[in-house]
Amino acid sequence: MNMNHHSKERTLVVIKPDGVQRSLIGEIIKRYEQSGLKMIAIKMLLPTEEMIESHYSVDPDFKKKVGTKAIESYKEAGDKPPSDDPETVGEGVMNRLKNYMTCSPVVAMVWQGAHAVELVRKATGTTEPRTSDVGTIRGDYVLDSYSMADSDGRAIRNLIHASGNVEEAEKEIPLWFDKKEIIQYKLVQETILYDVNLDGLLE
Ligand code: ADP
Ligand code: MG
Repeated sequence: MNMNHHSKERTLVVIKPDGVQRSLIGEIIKRYEQSGLKMIAIKMLLPTEEMIESHYSVDPDFKKKVGTKAIESYKEAGDKPPSDDPETVGEGVMNRLKNYMTCSPVVAMVWQGAHAVELVRKATGTTEPRTSDVGTIRGDYVLDSYSMADSDGRAIRNLIHASGNVEEAEKEIPLWFDKKEIIQYKLVQETILYDVNLDGLLE
């Protein structure tokens, strides 16, 4: 199978400190595992503030985007945002993320398979758990909101980081894993997921 085949798509998942502290490591892994995706790397580590800064700076527009998203969400809820300038809101989010993401260990993973980025985001749910759909991990297991995080001056606790798109994933993965920590192997179930002719199953 060529290296550009759908089945080779990769995404980074980090179970954030609240996911570890809530004893949800197994439940979270189960959700991705059940979908047919393949875990190709995993480790527990305590990130540094520098790692978190580099991680969220992979997208040079992170602060602006995160600020815009927060301001929209405030308006949708009929609340007044803390500032109307996305960059200002985004700068604050970055500082709060450094606190949040370094308070306890996290579990970092790389998942591979068809549409890995999109499927992991779908199973994870949207950023704000308050409005994440039921059935998603964030919607089912946590209750945080923009307004509560903001009034308490902290990052939204939403259990998981999952790459936003393929380009972001390919930039994030090397920040968390050396090449030799990522294992290329075949899962037996990949035959039924990807094999074109389905031969070799009957005895
Ligand atoms: P996602 O993790 O869903 O991709 P973003 O990339 O937009 O979300 O933001 C990264 C993380 O920053 C979020 O998961 C959340 O923990 C935190 N965050 C985002 N926006 C805010 C905000 N307005 N206030 C506090 N924390 C936020
Ligand atoms: Mg993101």
